[in-house]
Amino acid sequence: MEHAPAFARLIAELEKLPGIGPKTAQRLAYHLLFRPQEEVRALAEAMVQARASVRYCSVCANLTDRDPCPVCRDPGRDPRVICVVEQPRDVVAMERTREFRGRYHVLHGVISPMDGVGPEQLRVRELLARLRQDPPVEEVILATNPTVEGEATALYLARLIKPLGIRVTRIARGVPEGGDLEYVDELTLTRALQGRQAL
Ligand SMILES: [Zn+2]
Repeated sequence: MEHAPAFARLIAELEKLPGIGPKTAQRLAYHLLFRPQEEVRALAEAMVQARASVRYCSVCANLTDRDPCPVCRDPGRDPRVICVVEQPRDVVAMERTREFRGRYHVLHGVISPMDGVGPEQLRVRELLARLRQDPPVEEVILATNPTVEGEATALYLARLIKPLGIRVTRIARGVPEGGDLEYVDELTLTRALQGRQAL
């Protein structure tokens, strides 16, 4: 028996989500079918609203629904220290430590020639523009992941930033090699931040 068209469409849409195969899509679709109307509407509205209101912060490129984002607007956050991360989820990981009181810059990826990603595809130009503004930035902490691409990106940025007379540091090796900041516990990440070294 074929699925009813509306049901088949729901399955097809769910299947487009990352990590969702045909079986999971079908299971989720059945689940939604038997939830109360209001609950399903709330889910649909949350998706539409998030998509419509969440954008990139014009300063740090993190995700936000208010531009500039709360961190960039917070006068209690030190604008002289910028922590450079790969993805918005890394900002969440750093914030969980409550250790870092500076600001962020999200690259939205790493340099990866194999995947055709060069510095032009990342928010590198925006970072350099920020470093030339006042109040002068005194330290840039490179907190890209300890993967081959993350290390290469950190070295690339260090070479660009050091000639500007800014201290450049790299988070310590507490983060397991090949690991992802997102999955590192708070204590390890705090130690990695405290043990950062000049590049
Ligand atoms: Zn921001």
